[in-house]
Amino acid sequence: MKTIILYFIKFLGGFWLSRKLIRNKTLILAYHSFEVFDESEFRPNLFIKYSTLTQRLKYLKTHCNVVSLSEIEQSNKPINSVVITVDDGWASTLSHASSVFSKFNFPYTIYLTTENVLDNQPVFHILLDYILQASVGKTLTIILKGKECIKTVVSINNIENLKKEIALVKTKRLDTELLTVIARSLDVDIGGIIDKKSFSLMSVDEVKNIAQLGADIQLHTHSHHTYLFDENAFEKDLQANQQHIEDITGIKPLHHCYPSGSYNADSIQWLKRLGIKTATTCNPGFCDEQSNKLALPRFLDGENIPQIVFEAEVSGVLEVFRKLKSLIISGKLRTVNS
Ligand SMILES: [Zn+2]
Repeated sequence: MKTIILYFIKFLGGFWLSRKLIRNKTLILAYHSFEVFDESEFRPNLFIKYSTLTQRLKYLKTHCNVVSLSEIEQSNKPINSVVITVDDGWASTLSHASSVFSKFNFPYTIYLTTENVLDNQPVFHILLDYILQASVGKTLTIILKGKECIKTVVSINNIENLKKEIALVKTKRLDTELLTVIARSLDVDIGGIIDKKSFSLMSVDEVKNIAQLGADIQLHTHSHHTYLFDENAFEKDLQANQQHIEDITGIKPLHHCYPSGSYNADSIQWLKRLGIKTATTCNPGFCDEQSNKLALPRFLDGENIPQIVFEAEVSGVLEVFRKLKSLIISGKLRTVNS
């Protein structure tokens, strides 16, 4: 229903008009990983197909001006400016996306989380989720050190509980061994999946490579965790991330992205004290001169977003709807309070 309304608004020239109205605002787009085989069916909000990404960039080329993240603070930006950001540093950013961004000559920023880059291990919880979802109906038996820890049939309804049970037997040291035990029990070709690197971040050499190709590498914490209530842990984790990135690229990163968009008033103050210039969230919206530079909104794009919704967001139509909605809600609140 929503998409039909959006096609109708587009047909009536609403997208064109909206782009005129928001021409001095900037939209920050966020991507995560890029499909290597069939992963967008598994998590369409995390992965995007090559063909969809190409369609998005074609639209940006003809309707917007893609600028780098560092240009966000400049007042003389081109109209309808868009910043492209990519979270985490998945291996497919180099193997599948970098050539597409280069083809369009678009600058982009990678918010890199460094622990899995240095470990050079797949991201355990995402790979585990993929294996379990692909194994519904099979019996999972986990035997570690001769002791049977788990034996159950995998079903859609028990995957979340299973992940919690598996987390109890998991230790950092056991990650790869445990994944191998699980995959063998479910008859999944874990070696083949790991080799495709779809659930892995880039290696140190690959980060160096993509930085040399022109990618801007910025902060996303070392452990992919925001310590909302512990300033020391927050600072230590962010500074480890900053140091590792500087060691790899030779450039000190000063722009941050809150992992999973988690932040609070304290994190903003802590970033300010650490001299961080900008920080992005997962809240939708556009940026302008009045935006808090340490809590910038972004639009999360993925295979789950239909092209018409992407165009509506980029054109500012959805921003108009959001503003109207918040006006109606605040109006109702005023009525209730008065
Ligand atoms: Zn992330």
